[in-house]
Amino acid sequence: MTDVHSINLPYGCRDVPILKERGQREVFCGLTGIIWLHRKMQDAFFLVVGSRTCAHLLQSAAGVMIFAEPRFATAILEETDLAGLADAQEELDRVVAELLDRRPDIRQLFLVGSCPSEVIKLDLQRAAERLSQTHAPSVRILNFSGSGIETTFTQGEDACLASMVPVLPDTQKRNLLLVGALPDIVEEQAIRLLSDMGIESIEVLPASHTDMSVSVGVNTVFALTQPFLGDTFSALTQRGARHIPAPFPFGERGTTAWLRAVADEFSVADDIFDRVTKAPRARARKAISRAAEALNGKSVFFFPDSQLEIPLARFLTTECGMTAIEVGTPFLHKGLVGSDLDLMQTGPVFSEGQDVDRQIDRCRQAMPDLIVCGLGLANPLEAEGFATKWAIELVFTPVHFYEQAGDLTGLFSRPLRRAERIRSLAAE
Ligand code: SF4
Repeated sequence: MTDVHSINLPYGCRDVPILKERGQREVFCGLTGIIWLHRKMQDAFFLVVGSRTCAHLLQSAAGVMIFAEPRFATAILEETDLAGLADAQEELDRVVAELLDRRPDIRQLFLVGSCPSEVIKLDLQRAAERLSQTHAPSVRILNFSGSGIETTFTQGEDACLASMVPVLPDTQKRNLLLVGALPDIVEEQAIRLLSDMGIESIEVLPASHTDMSVSVGVNTVFALTQPFLGDTFSALTQRGARHIPAPFPFGERGTTAWLRAVADEFSVADDIFDRVTKAPRARARKAISRAAEALNGKSVFFFPDSQLEIPLARFLTTECGMTAIEVGTPFLHKGLVGSDLDLMQTGPVFSEGQDVDRQIDRCRQAMPDLIVCGLGLANPLEAEGFATKWAIELVFTPVHFYEQAGDLTGLFSRPLRRAERIRSLAAE
């Protein structure tokens, strides 16, 4: 389908000018990441040190968990803490001791900073170090920030993984680290494909349990599965590990290019690579072409939100026949998304950061067929008659690698089909 749009347009967007914006932004905070991280890391607990607003955000985002014994909670900073009248560090020691006493299954405790804890400059790093001395070795205590001050919702995962890197055991062995929290079934598919190519010593960050082997050293190579892991990338590089640059594994071509980059690193022969990937590639191509009928020839406009925007724009333009008008992203890290930029045709505006009113004006003028944006913008834009896709769904839904390529395509085609139906009903 790409060929429809490939007439005389040069490829490669790595060096195109970037529109940098520094105005008002519409994004969720990094606490959101706890919702998928606590499901992934099954012996971890996330203790947010924040306000009632933080507690409400988590509770409503993870509503079903109120019936179970959750693995996250909020230690609420009261007015006396905020006014500096109480010793918040002492309070934290007490809360952590009670929690660990009641929940002996916890092996890893994250103290998670929030806007209020940052505003009163509560030093959670010092708290984590102090509490580690009390509760190690049975519990590892780390800290990271999920604050919404100048951050986006996917940065919570990045901050969490980056906080784990310095305490990973050192190794001299040549291992492959897959970095990024994927649903278990998707992670298993990726590991199976790589194992079938003969690649051994595959480890995953984050692991589902603290005692699973995850180590890092100068012979470690790592492949990111999520494009929002800039701090984790830096932390791993500082430990001597080497990044394998690749497009992200979205769609058939993205997945093949990602696997190819890893396979090349481990000198996998072409015939082995083709044998392992042939059948799932064919399934992915078929699933995409079925679901992409509604997308072919349509335009898309990305507001900055999840940091998945550039790889997804690459997928929609090179595999689904769409045209990208603007690809907005909160942060543009060419070390991470450069390979996806290389595969895109020039034409779209790439913007970094946000000045939401100006961006809405550009969007209205462009009249895209589909807008990918945050929850806060979606409803007003729908009311204006635009078809929208919530960016956050792309993080909560399994969308990586071959077997999910059809579902990924469907996430974008459904709003267009729905808009089409609404228009035909209105016309009747
Ligand atoms: S961390 Fe900040 S933005 Fe997030 S819920 Fe708490 S107060 Fe709100």
